[in-house]
Amino acid sequence: MNCNANKSIGCTVKQCAYHCGNENYCSLDKINVGTHEANPTEVKCTDCESFRPSSK
Ligand code: SF4
Repeated sequence: MNCNANKSIGCTVKQCAYHCGNENYCSLDKINVGTHEANPTEVKCTDCESFRPSSK
């Protein structure tokens, strides 16, 4: 698989269409991080809003 890993964006979400498979990096030049909480207090309160489900 040809993937342009962005070494500045580490990611382990292998189910994302932008994930680099064997390498735990994102292939996008830039991602957007946000939150689904009114008052985020923990890591799990944050989301990668650039996530797209893999077609596989
Ligand atoms: S878009 Fe977000 S979830 Fe998807 S590979 Fe990049 S950093 Fe990971």
